[in-house]
Amino acid sequence: MNKVLDARTVDKFEKLISSASSIVLTCHVRPDGDAIGSTLGWMHLLHTLGKSVSVMIPDNAPRSLSFMPGFDRMAVFTRHEAHCLKHFREADLIICCDFNQPSRLDKMQPLLDGATCPKVLIDHHVEPDPFADLTFSFPDMSSTCELSFRIMAELGLYSDLNLDGATCLLTGMVTDTKNFTVNCKNPDIYEILMRLLEKGVDKNRIVRLALTEKSMGALLLESYAISNKMEIFPDLHGAVITLDKEECERFHYEKGDTEGLVNRPTEVRGITFSFFLREDSDCVKVSARSVMDFPVNLICKELFGGGGHVMAAGAEFKGSLSECRDILVEALPRYAHFLKGRSDRRDYFNL
Ligand code: MN
Repeated sequence: MNKVLDARTVDKFEKLISSASSIVLTCHVRPDGDAIGSTLGWMHLLHTLGKSVSVMIPDNAPRSLSFMPGFDRMAVFTRHEAHCLKHFREADLIICCDFNQPSRLDKMQPLLDGATCPKVLIDHHVEPDPFADLTFSFPDMSSTCELSFRIMAELGLYSDLNLDGATCLLTGMVTDTKNFTVNCKNPDIYEILMRLLEKGVDKNRIVRLALTEKSMGALLLESYAISNKMEIFPDLHGAVITLDKEECERFHYEKGDTEGLVNRPTEVRGITFSFFLREDSDCVKVSARSVMDFPVNLICKELFGGGGHVMAAGAEFKGSLSECRDILVEALPRYAHFLKGRSDRRDYFNL
């Protein structure tokens, strides 16, 4: 496995950890497998090192991740505000996982902004804000969990990583790479997988619980969205799916239920990008996916002030679902030049 850190950075992080006794770990709002996996992965490791560690997350994590060891020990800001305040105030080190801007903590952001102790950022999103005293930012990595494993290994702490910690780290790698099908060109990833399996991690169970298992409602909502709410734009090689609140409620929508939906159109031959717009309580959630490096992060940024990775991005739109859809559909032809060399010329869309 290639080293990614220089000796000075390793040294600096080692010193920060060894001089801290009370450590707070946190991750982004609406946390996913990688956010929770990296945060809990560090929690288990730091526990083994004898640290007092607390995990504070901005809002609830999806129930599909509740199998992760330590899941019930996380404090949720929206439910335990006073508890979180106390821990942020008393922490002597804060480690931020899987986000690039303090605003990704949502309502919990003032706690991070107000903290005076050293802060460390461990992340794989592009262009992080310079808010931390030590920043590990590697946008080429599959996941923050992959990056976390590498940091732990380079700190010489592999032997201190227990089965629980390894399970959490592999969960993040499995969810962010869709079980090693995207963002996993780097051969090192498979060495990391091997090292985690050597700890006794049950990968098949992780794949089933974190990735594939869903409720009947979620399955029916997905099939409804694809059959009734998917618009295909053949000339643009793209698809747009919209779901309003009433439709989600009809299928007993729960957080995480539409997680994989945006990917489905990109499974069709000839489709280069896909957008999914879901009406939420106070905004429209925009998610976008693409293949062949079609830059959906640029579209999310320019139209809705969002961002993300080239082939996986998102945004929030303050306005109605139909406005959001119209802005997107009107703007899409402006991005057609990015399709050159990135789409198949044949028309696969005749059903
Ligand atoms: Mn991630």
